[in-house]
Amino acid sequence: MNQAIAENVKIDWDGLAERAINKEKISRIEALAILETNDLELLSIINSAWKVRHHYFGKKVRLNMLMNAKSGHCPEDCGYCSQSKDSTAPIEKYTMLDKDTLVAGAREACKRKAGTYCIVCSGRGPTPNTIDAVVEAVKEIKGEMNLQICACLGLLKEGQAEALKEAGVDRYNHNINTSENHHEEVVKTHSYQNRVDTIESSKSAGISPCSGVIIGMGESHDDIVDMAYALRELDADSIPVNFLNSIDGTPMEGIEAKSPQFYLKVLALFRFICPDKEIRCSAGREIHLGNLQPMSLYIANSIFAGDYLTTSGQDVEADHKMIADLGLEIDFPEQS
Ligand code: SF4
Repeated sequence: MNQAIAENVKIDWDGLAERAINKEKISRIEALAILETNDLELLSIINSAWKVRHHYFGKKVRLNMLMNAKSGHCPEDCGYCSQSKDSTAPIEKYTMLDKDTLVAGAREACKRKAGTYCIVCSGRGPTPNTIDAVVEAVKEIKGEMNLQICACLGLLKEGQAEALKEAGVDRYNHNINTSENHHEEVVKTHSYQNRVDTIESSKSAGISPCSGVIIGMGESHDDIVDMAYALRELDADSIPVNFLNSIDGTPMEGIEAKSPQFYLKVLALFRFICPDKEIRCSAGREIHLGNLQPMSLYIANSIFAGDYLTTSGQDVEADHKMIADLGLEIDFPEQS
């Protein structure tokens, strides 16, 4: 029903940009209409999203670097993930990396001009030992480098967010991944509400919330709009928008991808609904956006530099060149 109405909505792209800049919430019908716009209007959508992106971030592009600090052996059943209990993907599995390796990773982030270093651990949530290991590493990194640190350790228990904040963690990532309505199709071992609770607990501890989505897991357009509204409501400062890289050996192996044009419309939708947030064109960009990949940076203001957790990314030099060719600039803090 909504879809049929949305197909007949004619969007005033200039007016939409202006309303997004003023942080007005766009209606569901309008949001659906963005996703259903004819591909021939793609440049109008990108131009409108660029106005919003430029208003808040100018030419700046933020780079983030991922460090998979603990890989595999996860008891959870997230259908997209190569590290889950249900995955047979042949990935490298290891326990927590030592402090020197985590600090060396931060130095590599600086070399790549990645202003945010993301320490990620597989698992339902961190053990006390994991928290201690992250705390020790973060203290050393913060003493040596001017980097933003993001931790992504799973569901948090009482007091853990406070311990991370105290050590100097700036941001905590916990993706909602999909809509509340579609969550059970993706994972059954934890609930959507568990995820929201962790985002709220990091906020309460004074840590900036990072939460994003994975597009292409069988969700409807309404689900995608729900995700964008949910992240606006949660006030996530940083929003990674991933495009499912369906990995062989996971329950989501072989899911058919959507078109690059559609993925760019999704990115634009997030820009219009969360106009002033760090929107990151994330995993899957290299394979799913193809030759349209550079256009994503007219909408998003952030990407990951280098590899993802268990899959390869584009060479960092290629990312730096793409940013320069677009006339954009890397947002990297001064180091003393
Ligand atoms: S996404 Fe995280 S919690 Fe889910 S299976 Fe993978 S490592 Fe485990």
